[in-house]
Amino acid sequence: MILDGKAPTGPIETSWDRHRFDMKLVNPANKRKFKILVVGTGLAGGAAAATLGELGYNVEAFCYQDSPRRAHSIAAQGGINAAKNYPSDGDSIYRLFYDTVKGGDFRAREADVWRLAQVSNNIIDQCVAQGVPFARDYAGYLDNRSFGGAQVSRTFYARGQTGQQLLLGAYSALSRQIKNKTVKMFARREMLDLVVVDGVAKGITCRNLITGEIESYWGDAVILATGGFVNVFYLSTNAMGCSATAIWKATKKGAYMANPCYTQIHPTCIPQHGDKQSKLTLMSESLRNDGRVWVPKRAEDCGKHPNQIAEEDRDYYLERKYPSFGNLAPRDIASRAAKEQCDDGRGVGDTKRGVYLDFQAAIDRVGQPLIQQRYGNLFDMYEKITDENGYERPMRIYPAPHYSMGGLWVDYHCMSNIPGLFVLGEANFSVHGANRLGASALMQGLADGYFVIPYTIAQYMASITPGQIKEDHPEFKKSAEEVKGQIDKMLSIKGKKTVGELHRELGSVMWEDVGMARSDASLKHALQRIPEIRDEFWNNVNVTGTAGELNQQLENAGRLADFLEFAEMMTKDALHREESCGGHFRTEHQTEDGEAMRDDENFCYAAAWEFKGVDNEPELHKEPLKFENVKLAVRSYK
Ligand SMILES: Cc1cc2nc3c(=O)[nH]c(=O)nc-3n(C[C@H](O)[C@H](O)[C@H](O)COP(=O)(O)OP(=O)(O)OC[C@H]3O[C@@H](n4cnc5c(N)ncnc54)[C@H](O)[C@@H]3O)c2cc1C
Repeated sequence: MILDGKAPTGPIETSWDRHRFDMKLVNPANKRKFKILVVGTGLAGGAAAATLGELGYNVEAFCYQDSPRRAHSIAAQGGINAAKNYPSDGDSIYRLFYDTVKGGDFRAREADVWRLAQVSNNIIDQCVAQGVPFARDYAGYLDNRSFGGAQVSRTFYARGQTGQQLLLGAYSALSRQIKNKTVKMFARREMLDLVVVDGVAKGITCRNLITGEIESYWGDAVILATGGFVNVFYLSTNAMGCSATAIWKATKKGAYMANPCYTQIHPTCIPQHGDKQSKLTLMSESLRNDGRVWVPKRAEDCGKHPNQIAEEDRDYYLERKYPSFGNLAPRDIASRAAKEQCDDGRGVGDTKRGVYLDFQAAIDRVGQPLIQQRYGNLFDMYEKITDENGYERPMRIYPAPHYSMGGLWVDYHCMSNIPGLFVLGEANFSVHGANRLGASALMQGLADGYFVIPYTIAQYMASITPGQIKEDHPEFKKSAEEVKGQIDKMLSIKGKKTVGELHRELGSVMWEDVGMARSDASLKHALQRIPEIRDEFWNNVNVTGTAGELNQQLENAGRLADFLEFAEMMTKDALHREESCGGHFRTEHQTEDGEAMRDDENFCYAAAWEFKGVDNEPELHKEPLKFENVKLAVRSYK
């Protein structure tokens, strides 16, 4: 099927404004008649729930943490983009739009990216009004720094804690609505199914993580803002609870999964240390503003203390290969370049899977106090984890799974192909194409939540009658029974392997075969291994405890069960896409100097997969992508 993204036509500069005006409104008295379920209260869901509550809708919001305050968005360090052009360095909405389309390797929908760039400026105004303590320059204006893939400074930041500060802003707005009773908050609830009645999303089934009870909730619309899925690799920079569960359950109910093979591997993480590790730590990309990346020129120097390697014996490979962007090359490019150096035998550290990020030149230039002021908490964090002082010797970094550009397919209204099911933030496939530039995920989450969904959901609400289907509909009972059945099955296996062991096995296959570089052979190998691990899970997993209590083993087992199905779709997507673009690097499709080689003639589309059962082939639907404003061109950062 050819999918229609429903993007407005006509001049891009006015596309969102014209569309906003053309959409239907719901009058304030009628808004009170509708109930909206918002699953996820990170930046995207928290912003959406607060705004929809303020508008007068009845909102019920859900998260699995004990408070929205703990959503994974809190971990974001580096910053959030906006086209304010405060430093007067040539930025504009058009340039942010251009950089994002190019950065995504021409695999995103132009109109959505334009809208994102346009509303980016509103986000900063709103967050400042909420009291977010962005860093300021000498004159008192908001300060900016640069991130990869851009030659301007457009990233607003609050030290290395931008996500935390933005989340506090959204959380305050949400708390205000909770107090005003327009939002009812259900913490410690995990959505385990989507309830679809006659093809329309009408509710969710959750597990109360404290009591184990299975609960049903009805709504006139359901919004999923449940974050990303890169924990499919087991080790990643994401919080341990991040999973594909919500979007995968929606896929099993008919929502299309778009571009699952586009995952971002972030170049600046602390290298893995040992096999028992369960999480990787990111060092923000903002460090590449001042840090220079290098490896020794000669493999025999790799064991030496870095400060004893002379300047002329160092290879500042990003500056050498990409002179225009240097250390600020985009993430996919910087990650692959680091892997290349290590594969070439010039990696550093115990495992030889590391490159240096060196601040000496910046310290000599501006002094340690200024570097400390800019990134102090990141240096502290690095020292706590590695016991090395990043001011005195270069840090060691290596790429790690970080972000999912793929997710549920949505149209310009952020609505999936299931009417009434909307998807926001990292959970949808939307604006990043095949690669996300730094500081644009926070921008997307808040754009979707504060400035897009309040308009687009009204268009849907105006077309339906509120409160027609409630929890007494048989579909709710059926869904609850299915969820209970799966839980009982997992608890009854009583096998020999822990959930963690099986997740590590899946993660290792995904990293080796579907990770930074994939080939026809590696993907076929993964497609053979994933069903074997899945089979072992359903026959040999040991989930201790019971269903009627707080049971994190059971929670993790459910998430792994979903990853074991989702991983297969992700791998099939990577196998079908016979080109390299952004974070999807097929070794068969590269230029002579090792850069990604796109095939616009055959693959200039979003791939949206329809699930057809665990052992059946998913069906591919395509949304062709048109580039009318940014010319399709080879993406070069040289
Ligand atoms: C270490 C790190 C640093 C980062 N730094 C930056 C940065 O500097 N700039 C930038 O732009 N981006 C950054 N990112 C990316 C960015 O933080 C995320 O993409 C973004 O915060 C995701 O927001 P979200 O609202 O979509 O999801 P999340 O914040 O992940 O929120 C998901 C919500 O969904 C809930 N949920 C999930 N599944 C279920 C379920 N089944 N049932 C009920 N609730 C559920 C959770 O409880 C949570 O409330 C960083 C990411 C990481 C990991």
